[in-house]
Amino acid sequence: MKKVSVECRNIRLSYDRTEVLKNISLTVEPGEFFALLGPSGSGKSTLLRLIAGFNQQNSGELLVDGQNIGSVPPHKRNIGMVFQSYALWPHMTVWDNVAFGLVERKVRGAELKARVAGALELVGLSQYAKRYPNELSGGQQQRVALARTIVIEPQVLLLDEPLSNLDRNLRVQMRQELLSLQRRLGITTIFVTHDQEEAMTTADRMAVMDQGVVQQVGSPSNLFDFPCNRFVANFVGTMN
Ligand code: ADP
Ligand code: MG
Repeated sequence: MKKVSVECRNIRLSYDRTEVLKNISLTVEPGEFFALLGPSGSGKSTLLRLIAGFNQQNSGELLVDGQNIGSVPPHKRNIGMVFQSYALWPHMTVWDNVAFGLVERKVRGAELKARVAGALELVGLSQYAKRYPNELSGGQQQRVALARTIVIEPQVLLLDEPLSNLDRNLRVQMRQELLSLQRRLGITTIFVTHDQEEAMTTADRMAVMDQGVVQQVGSPSNLFDFPCNRFVANFVGTMN
C-alpha cells in the first residue's frame, strides 16, 4: 500500500463566532505514527473530523498525498477513523461489524471472507467472530473498532482517544498493540490523546495543541528537552 502524507495549511474553523482552529499548519509524513496531544477542548477532535471530512474549514487547505481533498466527501476519502466511543453496531456480531464497510463497498464472497478474517486475525479476535459487542470486554470492543476500520485498507488512520475508555493496565498494553499493528501496516496514523505519557511513548513525532493553536511540533524527546514555551514545558514535562 502506498504511504501518504497529510498536510494542513493555515486551517481555520469556527463554530458560530468562536474560532476553534486558529491557523493550523502541520505535516504528517508518510507512514508516520503522529500524536496530537492537548488538553480537553483544545480542538483535537475538531481537527481529526476535518481531516476525515465531517467538518469543513472556513479557510486553509488540506492535502493528502499532495492532493487538495477539501471538496472530497468523507466516504470518498481513503481515510479510516476510530472514535472514542467505538460506535459498534450492538445488534451485529463482531464478524458483521467488521464486514459492514466492505459490504457497503460491494465487496462480496471469497474476498469479503478473506479480508474480514485477515482483519480479525490482525487484532487477535479470530475466536470472537460470532460474539456480539456486549459479550466483549472494553479492550476487545476497541479491537473490533480497529479491525472494522483497517479492513477497508485506508491510506490514513485517525484515532480519536481510542484508549481512553480502558483501565490503565489495559491502556498500556493496547498502546503497544496499536503501535505494532501500525508498524506492520505502515499506515500514516494520527493518534489523538490528552495523555502526555501515551503520546511520548508511542509517537514518531507529535504536535502539542492548546486553545486551537499548534504550540509545537517535534519528536517526543525534542519537545521534552526543548519546549518552546511554558505551556509545552508544563504539559509535556508532567507525566501522569
Ligand atoms: P478536544 O477534542 O481537544 O477536546 P474539541 O475539538 O472537541 O476539543 O472542541 C474544541 C472546542 O470546540 C471546544 O471549546 C468545544 O466546546 C467546541 N466545540 C466542539 N464541537 C462543537 C460543535 N459541534 N459546536 C460548537 N462548539 C463545538
Ligand atoms: Mg476530543
